Parts: sequence; C-alpha cells; structure tokens
Amino acid sequence: MKLKIKSKLILGLASLFIVIVLMELVSLYSINRLADESKAILKANYESLMFSREMLMALDGINQGDSGSWLKFEQSLQSQEKNITEKGELETTKSIKEKFVLLKASDKEKILSIRNDLYHILELNMNAIVRKNDEAQHTADKSKIYLAIIGAFSFMASFILLLNFPGYIANPIKELNEGIKAISNKNYSQRISLKKGDEFSELAESFNLMAERLDDFENSNLAKILFEKKRIETIINNMSDPIVGLDEQHNVLFVNTSALRIFELSENELIGKPAAEAAKKNDLLHTLLNSNPTVLPLKIYDNNKECYFTKEIWQIQNEDKSIGEVILLKNITQYKELDLAKTNFIATVSHELKTPLASIKVSLKLLNDDRIGVLNEEQHKLVDHIKDDTQRLLKITAELLDLTQVESGNIQLQKEKVDPKSIVQYAFNALKVQAEQKKINMSVSFDENLPSVSCDMEKTAWVLVNFLSNAIRYTPENGTIQIYTIYKDNEVVFSVKDSGKGIDQKHKDRIFEKFYQVPNTETGKTGTGLGLAISKEFITAQGGKIWMESAPDEGCTFSFSLTA
Ligand code: ADP
Repeated sequence: MKLKIKSKLILGLASLFIVIVLMELVSLYSINRLADESKAILKANYESLMFSREMLMALDGINQGDSGSWLKFEQSLQSQEKNITEKGELETTKSIKEKFVLLKASDKEKILSIRNDLYHILELNMNAIVRKNDEAQHTADKSKIYLAIIGAFSFMASFILLLNFPGYIANPIKELNEGIKAISNKNYSQRISLKKGDEFSELAESFNLMAERLDDFENSNLAKILFEKKRIETIINNMSDPIVGLDEQHNVLFVNTSALRIFELSENELIGKPAAEAAKKNDLLHTLLNSNPTVLPLKIYDNNKECYFTKEIWQIQNEDKSIGEVILLKNITQYKELDLAKTNFIATVSHELKTPLASIKVSLKLLNDDRIGVLNEEQHKLVDHIKDDTQRLLKITAELLDLTQVESGNIQLQKEKVDPKSIVQYAFNALKVQAEQKKINMSVSFDENLPSVSCDMEKTAWVLVNFLSNAIRYTPENGTIQIYTIYKDNEVVFSVKDSGKGIDQKHKDRIFEKFYQVPNTETGKTGTGLGLAISKEFITAQGGKIWMESAPDEGCTFSFSLTA
C-alpha cells in the first residue's frame, strides 16, 4: 500500500503516541496494584495485629487486677470484630468473645485460652502479611515483565521508525536536489524516478515534465541557432569582400573565403587563434590590424592583381558592452579604376585644351595690336570678353591639371627652408591689383621672430593665392582682408580673414571636397569648386593642417599650418 507523506508522518507519530500511552497505562496499573496491595497489608492486617496486642496487654492488666483493662479489652475486641480479613479469623474472634463473657463471670482459667486465641489471630495476620507481601512481589515481577515487553516493543518500533523515517523524507529530496542541479547545469536530459503514490512522486512527475519541456525548448532553439549560424556563414562566405570576426579577447572567430585567399592562410591557421599571434607570421594581417581605417585605401594583391580595399570596423555591442568586432575590407578596385580613367581623361583634355587656349591668347593680343587693324569700341569690348573667358578657361585647365596630379598621387614636393614672409609677400603682390580694383583694404601682419618653414614654396604660395583670390571674390567692395602669420606650438599658421558674408557651419568640412561649392553663392558660379580641394591636398602632402572658421556675417578665416 502506498501512503502519502502526510499519512506516513501521522502513522509514525501515532505509533509513537500509542506506545507512550500504553507504557503510561501499564505503569499506572502496576503502580496502582502495588499500592493497593501494600495498603491492604498495612491497614487490615496491621490493625488486627494492633488490636490483638492491645487485647493481650489488657489481659495482663486484668490478670494483675487492673479494673480499667476490662474496658480496654472490650474496646479492642469490638474493633477487631469489625476488622475481620483472614480465613478463620472470624471463628477465633467469636471464640474470644465467648471466652471473655465467661472470664467476666470470674472464670479465670479462660485467660490462657483467650491468650492462645489471640496468638492464633496474630499468627493468621502475620501469615497474611507474608503472603500478601509475596503477592505484591509477584505483581511487581509481573509488572516488570510487562514493562520490559512493552519497552522492547516500543524500542523496536522507535528503532524501525528511526531507521526508515528520515529516509522516507530525505531520499526523494536528495534525488530532487540532484535533478535540479543537473538542470541548472543545462543537462536537460535528466529525469527523476520516484515510487508512485505520494507527494514526492507527484513532484518528480512535475520535475520530469519541466525537464522535458526545457529539453524540447533547448533542442528547438539549438536547431534554430544552428540554422541561423549556417545561413550567416553561407552569406559571409559568399561575400566577395574579405571579412574577419574577432571576439572581445581579439581571438579570430570567423574568416570568410575571400579573407583566407588574400591572407594566403587556411582556416586552421586562423580560427580560434589570437589575431595578434597570427599577425606575427602574416604581414598583411599585421597591416590590417594596425592600420588606421580613415587613411588611404590598402593596396593588396588578390588573384595576382593589384586591388584596393578600404577597412571598416564594426563593434559588436551587447548591453552597452563590446563583445567583439568585425573587420570588413571593402573592395574599391573598380571605383579606383574608374577614378583613374576619369583622372587620365581630365588630364588629357586639360592638356589638349592648354595649347589652343594659349594660341587664342596670342591671337587676342595680336587683335588688340593696331598694326594689324584698328578695332572699333564694340570690337574692343568683345575682344576683352573673349580675353576674360580665355583667362578663366586657362585657370580651370590649370586647376584640373593640378587636380589630376594630386589624384594620381604624383605630387612632386620640392621642399626647402622658406621664410614665411616671402610666401605672404608673393601672394600679396599677386592679388594686390585685384583687391585695389574692388577697393578692398588688404593688410598684412606677422609675429615677431617667425622661423622659416620647410615646405614647397610654389605649392604653399599657390594655396595662399587661392585663399586670397577667394577672399577678394567673396568680399564686397570696400571690404577688408587681413593676412596674418603667427608662430604657435612649433608651427607657423598662415591665415586670411575677410569681411564677406561668411560660410555656414554645416558646409565647414565639405568646402574642402572636390567640386563642392556653397549653394546659392552668386559669385561661386564663376568658380570650379576645386581650389580648396587642391589646397588641402597640397598642405596635407607637406604634413600640414588646413581649416576654416566662420561666424555669421563676420566673414570667414581660412588658415593652414606648417611645421617650423
Ligand atoms: P571656387 O573655385 O568655387 O572658389 P573653392 O574650392 O576655392 O572653389 O571654394 C569652394 C567654395 O567655398 C566656393 O564655391 C565658395 O562657396 C566657398 N568659399 C571659399 N572661400 C570663401 C570665402 N572667403 N567666403 C565665402 N565663401 C567662400
């Protein structure tokens, strides 16, 4: 029969309770019996002995003629008559009474006979005391045996309970505990089997159900994750751009086939290995890990062909914590080739345009010469227009040629120690007339003790000229232009500050891009948007910096710095 834990507990405690009550009852019964028997011994027989003794003493008094002894005898006899307990005691008491009547009638001989009867009563009661004592002893012995039997039975019952009861409760708890530990260690195949019938087996069934559900969930989740992993792996592997995944300790997590091809490494040589360790044996990986993503594209040989890649790093975040990164190399070879084709095309066109433009210029000069023929006013104006446009076209072709030179990476720097003042003076002289025509006040200032700078004089002056010609172009008549040169932190800074309408902050960085012009600039229509882009290339190629500052309606300040 299967019992519930509650029933088991009730049964165990009830048996202990019964055992305690049983022992209590047996002990009480035995003690009561012993007490009763002892009382009987004391009371009845002891009193008979007392009465007999008093009667014997009264007899002695009667014998010696003590008149009070008659009454004492009679009183003791009456008490004895009421205290008959033993067999034969009644007859002897009656005999004493009869003999006492005769004694009273002066039959002195009866004294001896009465004395003998009294001795008989004494003997009867003393024998009874001995017998009853034996009986009490017997009862005590029996009680001992009963108590011993019950004691042994209680001991056995308690012992069995003691042996089994903790196990009833503890074993299933232990098994459950082990099951829970296994589940917490993600061992969802763990099951518990407990004998059916009590609350523990119900608990075990619930536990097994939970483990089964977790197992199903884990398996379905795992299958899903594996499927997703496979899908992502396939996508990554089929991407033509090389990809490398790193964990937070910079160990390689994955690489796609394109990456393995350019590194000329196998999966085994990379996956699971610290990236820095693998990079020691592979120059390309070393460059890739240590290169700054914002600098120029990386030139890498892939399939025996010179290819260009830009590096991008994506941080993998989990709850605001970086858990790794993905390095992506974007193959920009195609764009680079197109760009090169464009640069070559522009270079060729600009170059081809230069000769006819130069000959137009010469022809215009000849046209203006009176020896060839005198032009009327209208014709003079037309020739001047053609001259301006030719001049502009020449400027544009020159800038385009400069740009192609910069883009093809062919900037030839002729570095030398140059006095900053001479650069400023050159630019000032070149634009002086233009500024005067617009009535612009152009001032120059220098820091004292300016050191000379190591730079390409021609290109640096070109940049300053470009700054100045822009300033003149974008500053209204009667405006001011300040050229100042300062020496700060081992750098010489050249600045051109104008009083034009300035440039909005949102265009701050873009104005240095190729062909970028601030929208809706009237005068901008005459430019190409190349001057500042070329200036940036010329200055950065020399290790310098270039920037612009502007506040609304306060004009703008264009600056560049070169190391002293
Ligand atoms: P552009 O030939 O158009 O002048 P730049 O590269 O020299 O080409 O200049 C780019 C654009 O920057 C110009 O079109 C103009 O909008 C703006 N810009 C340059 N210098 C100034 C200036 N001093 N004041 C206001 N705008 C300027």
